[in-house]
Amino acid sequence: MAKRLEGKTVLITGASSGIGRSCAFEFARTSPKDLKLVLTARRMDRLREIAAEIQAEVGDGVKVLPVELDVANPEQVRGFVARLPEEFRGIDVLVNNAGLVKGVARAPEIAEEDINIMFQTNVTGLINMTQAVLPIFKARPGGGAGDIINIGSIAGRDPYAGGSIYCATKAAVRAFTDALRKELIDTRIRVMEIDPGQVETEFSVVRFYGDKSKADAVYAGCDPLTPDDIAEVVVFVAGRRQNVVVADTLIFPSHQA
Ligand code: NDP
Repeated sequence: MAKRLEGKTVLITGASSGIGRSCAFEFARTSPKDLKLVLTARRMDRLREIAAEIQAEVGDGVKVLPVELDVANPEQVRGFVARLPEEFRGIDVLVNNAGLVKGVARAPEIAEEDINIMFQTNVTGLINMTQAVLPIFKARPGGGAGDIINIGSIAGRDPYAGGSIYCATKAAVRAFTDALRKELIDTRIRVMEIDPGQVETEFSVVRFYGDKSKADAVYAGCDPLTPDDIAEVVVFVAGRRQNVVVADTLIFPSHQA
């Protein structure tokens, strides 16, 4: 697998914490000889720390570029790839991971602001990032090549009360992913989705508007997945032989079955 990832450039959105952060480490550890990582999120301080930690752990074989990017801001996403330093522009793998949930209200009570931020980040942001990177993929010989790995959610398959908007965004990710894969059938561009169940990250802190005690209560008494569990799968699907498309993966802790 390390050989197949050698020389690749991997762009991860939402790399400043949780699953995205773990993906950055997992790619670097799996292919420490010749890899470029473009780590994006809004919190640059976090990204710089992560870049330094990766560099300290695996050395200079991995080049890490932290870049501030709000995927919900179309102005920032437009032309994003063109603004990267040239050596990082040849993206091979896009991990569309940035995402969030806000609140636990029933549909009639959900704040308009929360509805908008969930759709702008989880759906429009993911689509805009895909559109930003696809021209790079399509320019490659044979109709194009590259990997798009979308992080969906079990919530997109099995909606729950109190999460209607988040569930709807993740169902939209599924539909977009499946349609895009069909549109790109004549290329060597792989479009894949990984749907996690419960993973302990800052996800719940964001959901409860920063209230850590409410967030911690979500995980009390259960044994959630770790972000590394998801990152291992992300790197696994990216590291398959080019003709192998691990199109759709659902991964959850045993208590959630
Ligand atoms: P975290 O809150 O730990 O990480 C979310 C990441 O998304 C952060 O790095 C955050 O960075 C980034 N992000 C949020 N909004 C934006 C934005 N507008 N622009 C750029 N980056 C943004 O949560 P997880 O790691 O758990 O979440 C990662 C993905 O996994 C999400 O898509 C989530 O929906 C999905 N998921 C999570 C599950 C879980 O139980 N944790 C279950 C199923 C799916 P910053 O704030 O610095 O911008």
